[in-house]
Amino acid sequence: MSKNVLVTGGAGYIGSHTVLQLLLDGYRVVVVDNLDNSSDVAIERVEELAGELAKNLSFHKVDLRDRQALEEVFAETKFDAVIHFAGLKAVGESVHKPLLYYDNNLIGTITLLETMAAHGCKNLVFSSSATVYGWPKEVPCTEEFPLAAANPYGRTKLFIEEICQDLRRSDSEWKIILLRYFNPVGAHPSGYIGEDPRGTPNNLMPFVQQVAIGRQPALTVFGNNYSTKDGTGVRDYIHIVDLADGHIAALRKLSDPKIGCEVYNLGTGKGTSVLEMVAAFEKASGKKIPLVMAGRRPGDVETVYASTKKAEHELNWKAKYGIEEMCRDQWNWASKNPYGYASPNLN
Ligand code: NAD
Ligand code: UDP
Repeated sequence: MSKNVLVTGGAGYIGSHTVLQLLLDGYRVVVVDNLDNSSDVAIERVEELAGELAKNLSFHKVDLRDRQALEEVFAETKFDAVIHFAGLKAVGESVHKPLLYYDNNLIGTITLLETMAAHGCKNLVFSSSATVYGWPKEVPCTEEFPLAAANPYGRTKLFIEEICQDLRRSDSEWKIILLRYFNPVGAHPSGYIGEDPRGTPNNLMPFVQQVAIGRQPALTVFGNNYSTKDGTGVRDYIHIVDLADGHIAALRKLSDPKIGCEVYNLGTGKGTSVLEMVAAFEKASGKKIPLVMAGRRPGDVETVYASTKKAEHELNWKAKYGIEEMCRDQWNWASKNPYGYASPNLN
């Protein structure tokens, strides 16, 4: 029988791509999302892409902190596992509104964990982030590296990781996988779903995409005097579909009896600079991206990329795509949906 999975934040960027991969893999999926940072059009598009399998998807507009509403979702379906994406993620905003971040991310997660326990569902995959490595002493980052957080957003990830470790220590029925994502970019190759940030994008590739379609005049490069190959920051960009597939590998791992609370990096293991990424996007789109060189962004780190060994060996998962495919698919989404899900002429 196919498994029932609850996906929190399933209308968001990573969530929507993961929901699609889950449906295509034969899972039954229930999404809860308050649509604070997403659109229900994303869910409609996932349904269209899933075709026949869309019958296995249902959506509830629910805030995780609304215990009663969450309770009703759990009363309706017996879940085999939960993938927990729901959370606020803008670093700068978290510095200005720390209580909003602690309330949404921590209270939301605690309410979810309590409801799961009450319904006997103790299998969880949680979205953590490479931000917990802070400025690493060396690269690639292995899962054993010391952890640090430079802002309230990062601290919510660190706290939730610790909460999950404590929970498992308190009750060995819990099986938890903490996935530390590196930098997800790109879109589904159909160009039908993708990233659609509200307001001015904070992250590199959504900003580059808006420059290419004329919504922004130029990319500001934050720092060109780092000790890297060309002076700009280096990150581990990972194709969103590879990242989504990593969640299916994690779900499978939850049925390993030896699993307790385990951490895995999801990255490619390759470091790419800002200028290399811009060049790859210019090639894929045929558009020139004007650059303005500026100082370092406060809180930024120089170089971060993943050690992928643990995920390869234990999850049997490895990223398949490189930056060419990431840029190709991002441009396909951007050119078909220049205003994201609000674009007037949908594909
Ligand atoms: P996103 O904002 O597109 O998706 C998050 C979704 O959660 C949104 O649809 C939002 O409406 C929903 N949500 C937020 N708070 C909620 C609440 N209280 N109740 C119900 N729904 C709520 O972000 P994303 O990029 O898809 O990220 C998903 C997860 O992965 C987040 O936890 C994020 O911190 C983490 N993550 C993202 C990145 C990245 O670069 N995108 C990197 C590392 C980790
Ligand atoms: N970056 C940039 N201009 C921008 C956004 C980002 O130069 O408008 C740089 C940033 O300094 C970093 C890299 O691009 O070196 C990736 O930044 P992003 O915010 O996407 O990810 P993170 O820093 O959180 O890993």
